[in-house]
Amino acid sequence: MNPGDRVRLTHDGRTHEGVLLPSTTDDHAVLKLNGGYNVGIERAGTTVEVVEADVYDVGDDRAEDGSTVEFDDDLPTVALISTGGTIASTVDYRTGAVTAQFDAEDVLRAVPDLAGRANYRGRVVANILSENMTPDIWQDLARAVHEEIEAGADGVVVMHGTDTMQFSASALAFMLDTPVPVVFTGSQRSADRPSSDNVMNAVCAVEAAKSDCAEVLVCMHASESDDRCALHRGTRVRKNHTSRRDAFETVGAEPLGTVAYGGDDDSVDVSFRRQYAERGAVGLDIAPDLATDVELVKFTPGTSEAVLDGVEGSAGLVIEGTGLGHVHTDWIPRITELVEGGTEVVMTSQCLGGRVCDRVYDTGRDLLDAGVIEGEDLLPGTAKVKLMWALANSEDVAATMASPLVGELTERSVPPENHTIEEAW
Ligand code: GLU
Repeated sequence: MNPGDRVRLTHDGRTHEGVLLPSTTDDHAVLKLNGGYNVGIERAGTTVEVVEADVYDVGDDRAEDGSTVEFDDDLPTVALISTGGTIASTVDYRTGAVTAQFDAEDVLRAVPDLAGRANYRGRVVANILSENMTPDIWQDLARAVHEEIEAGADGVVVMHGTDTMQFSASALAFMLDTPVPVVFTGSQRSADRPSSDNVMNAVCAVEAAKSDCAEVLVCMHASESDDRCALHRGTRVRKNHTSRRDAFETVGAEPLGTVAYGGDDDSVDVSFRRQYAERGAVGLDIAPDLATDVELVKFTPGTSEAVLDGVEGSAGLVIEGTGLGHVHTDWIPRITELVEGGTEVVMTSQCLGGRVCDRVYDTGRDLLDAGVIEGEDLLPGTAKVKLMWALANSEDVAATMASPLVGELTERSVPPENHTIEEAW
């Protein structure tokens, strides 16, 4: 079989059909599947059937020494890091293996509209659907971003599946001090569909990565039209729709910024409406350690306290409680035992908007007596990532959870002991 052939590969009882892409490793064959995703399949023990030879121009006629795209001294350099998902499947990597490189030519062949906006460098940290993301891949990703910035990238774009993008963006926000923008982007509709959002999201993300905002951002369609992307703070964003292109929303505020997209006339304008951390304000640093035994449990009427048996002995537990931060009173003895057993328990609210305040009702006061930490106005998912990070990096987990580190929470304006239901809002 040769690159460009349509093949059927059977490995470990599973058959994949797609077009064989060029690969720089002998260990793995890389297929572009019919749905558009790329997958790496171990060659050893694989049966090969060539369905049709030479169906696809894989562009392997480039110079032996790599990209033919020239470096432009007048343009900033943007590192494109791929983790997989729909958006990444537009790029034909030279290999499907993790740590593979792809170069400016691969990028421009996939999204020609990116030409002339930056010099590009690319790498693959993973090639997965984001529901398969894990904390150790967050750590690989943080290290890759750190290396790219250290090597001189003026901004970083992370291509990511949309399902868990908010978690990865939060993880990087806590793990990295970044002097340049780190912009996550994805695609809700694949490149083969007329309504695909991949080109506009990628262009807007590159422009945001050239901006002055040195934060971890999520850049996705702001409306169902192709006129602008929103720039969300990674720790405050949430995927709120299964399929719409404008599925992502900043919770409780307007997005941090906007990228106006001119489409055919190539004009793109990045603007911000709130304060942000400016380019160069902090030096580059990384604190990638995480305590991974942290769970997020949602309480709803009828949820048995027995679900907490599964987290016994864990370092941390985030509860997504009701209203101001409540659970059924039957849960409280079990939570007390968990705290006494050394588990840090953080309360958040499934209301999403507003702040947890356990000083208003008896249930809340009992939870505080049990040693539960109030999660302020942290989004539950962000609270889980922050707790993983705080357990591994902070001496005082409760104080760290209450302090804003990267715009993930707003501070209380009145001391907690005087808090009332009005102030919780
Ligand atoms: N569910 C997959 C993911 O989140 C594919 C869809 C997408 O890329 O958003 O990676």
